Amino acid sequence: MSLDTHRHKKQLGQHFLSDRSVVEKIVKFVNPQPGERIVEIGPGAGALTFPLLKKHGELTVIEFDRDLIEPLTEEGAKHGRLTILHRDVLSVDFGKLGAGQDVLGPLRLVGNLPYNISSPILFHVLEHADVVRDMHFMLQKEVVDRMASEPGSKVYGRLSVMLQAVCRVTPLFDVPPGAFTPPPKVDSAVVRLVPKSNDEIGITDAKRFAQVVAAAFSQRRKTLRNALSTVCDVEAIRAADIDPGARAEQVAVASFARLANHLSATTNLPPEDGALP
Ligand code: SAM
Repeated sequence: MSLDTHRHKKQLGQHFLSDRSVVEKIVKFVNPQPGERIVEIGPGAGALTFPLLKKHGELTVIEFDRDLIEPLTEEGAKHGRLTILHRDVLSVDFGKLGAGQDVLGPLRLVGNLPYNISSPILFHVLEHADVVRDMHFMLQKEVVDRMASEPGSKVYGRLSVMLQAVCRVTPLFDVPPGAFTPPPKVDSAVVRLVPKSNDEIGITDAKRFAQVVAAAFSQRRKTLRNALSTVCDVEAIRAADIDPGARAEQVAVASFARLANHLSATTNLPPEDGALP
């Protein structure tokens, strides 16, 4: 099978980019520099892969679809040094990938992600944020809006807080369904994520933080006094300089971090798991 005749697999989220101007824009934003280690998640038929490879000379890609491996290998050889990992990205140890001897710097990740598993991919990658310099991902626009939203916005929620706690999130541009073959049912957007250093993050216990955020947003309409009643008392909320009468959607990321840090400093109980799926 060739890349041109590949039959799209819906279950793998295969909406391939067919608008060259969108591809060019992404490559421009990534702006690969000599010596950098660039890794693409889900190369598909190579819409982004080959332009990146031509510009940069080498690239590592992670693709789950067996049917694409051989044609990608053949076409890739014409453009540069393409390393193909035939794997489920969720099983890739990015820590190891970023620690190879030929690596000159942390990983730069790129991908038009399969939308059905975009959140698990994000959180899997973020487990190894220390080896990731930045990420440029195409996602559903609705997800990018949630990722980047501020307190007070209708879409500010658990994803916004969990992600902004560990990354700087910059939406770059929107992409309409017609830029893909076959077109998805939803609008898309490209976002840049830059992991923060541990000092910048300033969270002493990631599990405690995840637990607090999950509880706070479990019932959006409730005040924190009620939503957090299983996690902490009102005094703890006040000690973190948060109004117990506020709702989670009004509370800044830094305030959630303060509350979680206060709890980990004053409570002995281990937090229940509040990690995102
Ligand atoms: N980059 C190509 C483009 O822009 O045209 C393809 C993008 S398509 C939205 C998503 C790609 O991710 C597909 O090639 C799909 O086979 C691949 N994929 C889906 N699930 C995957 C997984 N668990 N691990 C690795 N790749 C996966």
